[in-house]
Amino acid sequence: MFDKPVAGHGSRMAISGTPHFTAPASIAPLRFDIYDPLSLQESLTAAFSLGGSIPPPELAVFIRKLVMFLTNSLERRNGQWEHETWAQTLEADGKSKGYLEILVSALTRQLVSALTRQLVSALTRQLVAAMPAERAVSLWRGDFAQRYGDGSAHDCLSVDISDWDTPGILYGRTAKQCTPEEIAREVWAQMSACLEDGTGAIDDNDIASWFLDPGVKWGAGGVTNDTPLVINTAGSLANRSEAHTAIPNLFLAGDYVRNDIDLATMEGANESARAAVGALLQTAGSPAAPPALYKLHEPPELEPLRRINADRYRAGQPHMLA
Ligand SMILES: Cc1cc2nc3c(=O)[nH]c(=O)nc-3n(C[C@H](O)[C@H](O)[C@H](O)COP(=O)(O)OP(=O)(O)OC[C@H]3O[C@@H](n4cnc5c(N)ncnc54)[C@H](O)[C@@H]3O)c2cc1C
Repeated sequence: MFDKPVAGHGSRMAISGTPHFTAPASIAPLRFDIYDPLSLQESLTAAFSLGGSIPPPELAVFIRKLVMFLTNSLERRNGQWEHETWAQTLEADGKSKGYLEILVSALTRQLVSALTRQLVSALTRQLVAAMPAERAVSLWRGDFAQRYGDGSAHDCLSVDISDWDTPGILYGRTAKQCTPEEIAREVWAQMSACLEDGTGAIDDNDIASWFLDPGVKWGAGGVTNDTPLVINTAGSLANRSEAHTAIPNLFLAGDYVRNDIDLATMEGANESARAAVGALLQTAGSPAAPPALYKLHEPPELEPLRRINADRYRAGQPHMLA
């Protein structure tokens, strides 16, 4: 993987039966070259129709929660919000189908490939998502066909199947009740249902081969996963180890290790590795410079509000927007 992936400039959120929403990967600088006239029109429609599928008072709740998150102190995030599920934080109970499907469920799936049922209470049909926003652009450096496989494959799609418990659209069964071959066909059918928009983004002839994580196994007791993805479930932060453990010569690196990124990502895994190397060098009395550690970016413009909220949290008061 090292040095092979290229940065994507945007992402596309495709929910079957709704206009696709294409978003730039960066807002500074804001890149408009990810849009063509059709995707720009669709994205604006999607953005404005959010208001159509989510009642304005519910949208206001979501926006208020977003502002609260951005202006929350770290102490309150770790001490209070850490113990709530996403659904609880967004006050999902009793909200509309649009609110639950888009803001509670789809957002977490897009962000962290999350196992929604563990993270939030959700209603959704979609199982899938993760592919280049612009199908014509490979996300790999170099000649993919020459480097990988038998030369017939020109790109590789990585797909997260984030819901194993909701019946699919092809067989009417859950992923847990399907064979690997049925899962592959179901995944393709759902991607096709979401992406068949006349742009040729996805084509049945595109499949050279497919591969399902061998850690997923079928046995007498049902489906198991030998290598489940770490998911930040409510209250789990306290159970995660630091890179330097209580055993002086034991150091841990991995996405489950507690660090400032606090999300199971490559950034989180890298950060923990840097912390582990730093601790190892210190323990060994090495004169070598420790690797740099990085903080999660917080908008500096909101720092005064975060400080006020830190004071309020320490004084036992709720967030000013609560
Ligand atoms: C489908 C999917 C999509 C993802 N998409 C993204 C994304 O877009 N962006 C992002 O930032 N993160 C993404 N992630 C998460 C990211 O891949 C992980 O957070 C990251 O790879 C974790 O790194 P790690 O070093 O902790 O563990 P791993 O990368 O899992 O490395 C652990 C290694 O240890 C090996 N191993 C296990 N047991 C043993 C043993 N007993 N002996 C020897 N070796 C062993 C494993 O084979 C593996 O190679 C995704 C994860 C998945 C599964």
